[in-house]
Amino acid sequence: MIKPEKPASEQSRLEVLKRYEILDTLPERAYDDLLTIAAGICGTPMGSVSFVDADRQFFKSRRGLPVSETPRDVAFCAHAIMTPNQMLIVPDARDDLRFHDNPLVTGEPRILFYAGAPLISSEGEATGTLCVMDNQPRKLDAFQQEAMMVLSRQVTALLELRVSYKKLRHHLSEREWYEEQLKSYQDSLEEQNADLIEQTRLDPLTGLSNRRALNLALDAAIQLAATQGSSLAMAIIDIDHFKTINDLHGHPVGDETLVSVARVIHAQRGQHGFTARCGGEEFALLMSHTDAKNAELQCDYIREAVQNLAQGLPVTVSIGVTLFKAGDTAASLYARADEAMYAAKSGGRNRVVLS
Ligand code: GH3
Ligand code: MG
Ligand code: MG
Repeated sequence: MIKPEKPASEQSRLEVLKRYEILDTLPERAYDDLLTIAAGICGTPMGSVSFVDADRQFFKSRRGLPVSETPRDVAFCAHAIMTPNQMLIVPDARDDLRFHDNPLVTGEPRILFYAGAPLISSEGEATGTLCVMDNQPRKLDAFQQEAMMVLSRQVTALLELRVSYKKLRHHLSEREWYEEQLKSYQDSLEEQNADLIEQTRLDPLTGLSNRRALNLALDAAIQLAATQGSSLAMAIIDIDHFKTINDLHGHPVGDETLVSVARVIHAQRGQHGFTARCGGEEFALLMSHTDAKNAELQCDYIREAVQNLAQGLPVTVSIGVTLFKAGDTAASLYARADEAMYAAKSGGRNRVVLS
C-alpha cells in the first residue's frame, strides 16, 4: 500500500473545508440524491460524498459503506484529490500497488473498483470527492465519467450555496438585532421626549401648568363650550403689590409667596378646573360647567383663602372673572377676564370682579 501524499496547498485546502462547516454534520437529502444519481449512472452498489480532513475522510453521504469516516492513510479519495482536474479510476484494486493490500480492499467493504471525481472549491482547492465503488472490477465509459464530473460540480455548487445561505441568514439576524436595538433607542427617545413635553407644559416654580399648556386647555375648553353649549368661566388672579413683597422681603420670599398662592388656587379648584401660572405673579383658572354666580363664589373662596394664608406677611389677590359667550375666541375671553382683573385692582384690590 502506498500512503497518499498531501497537496502543496494543504493548509488553504483545510481552511476551505472549515469554511464549508460540513465536517461531522448529519446526512442531508440533497447530497444523498446526487450520490444516488451517480451510483445509478455508474451501476455501482457503493459510493460516497467524501471530504478529506487533516487525517481522516468524512462521508457526508454514503451508500453501501458501514462507517461514517476512515483514516486518511487508507482513503482512495485522499489519492484522488492529488489530481484535482481529473478523475481517479481504479478498475481493479488488486492490480494497483497503491491499494492492493489496503484494508478496505482486503477486508470489508472489499472495494475492488473505485472512481472518484474531485470536488473543487471556488478557490480551486480539492476538498474531497464524489465517488462510486464496487466489489467487482469495473470500467466507466466516457459518458459515465463525464456524468461523474458534472455531478461533482453539482455537489460543490450545493456546498457553496449552503455557505452563502448561512452567511445571508447570519447577516439577516444581525440586521434584525440592529433593528431591535434601534427600536429600543427610539422608544427611549420618545419617552424622553414625552418627559420633555410634560416639562415644558409645567411651570417649574409652582408646578402648575404654564402659559403654553393654558393656551391648549383654553382652546379645548372653548371648543367644548361652543359645540356643547355648556358654560365656561375664566378667571385671572393677580397678586396685589407683589413688587413690594419682593422689594421688602427679597426674591426668595417672593418665590415662596408664588408657590403658596399657587397651592391655594390648586387646592381650591385643582380637582374641578384647570389652573395655570400665566406668568409673573398672575394665575388663570378655567371652570367648565360653571355659571356666573358659582364662578364668582369660587373666586371669592380663593381670594379669602389667600388672604388667610399663614405666610407671615399680608398677601392678597385681585381676581377678574368672565363667562364664555357665543363667538368668543381664546383671546377675547382672556382679554375680558384681564379687564375684569384690572377693574378689581382699580376698585381697591383684594376683590373679585365679574364682567
Ligand atoms: P399690582 O398690585 O398692580 O399687581 O402690583 P404688582 O407689584 O403685583 O405688579 P407689578 O406688575 O408692578 O410687579 C410684578 C412683580 O412680580 C415684578 C416682578 O419682579 C415680580 N416677579 C415676576 N416673576 C417673579 C418670580 O418668578 N419670582 C419673584 N420673586 N418675583 C417675580
Ligand atoms: Mg400684581
Ligand atoms: Mg401682574
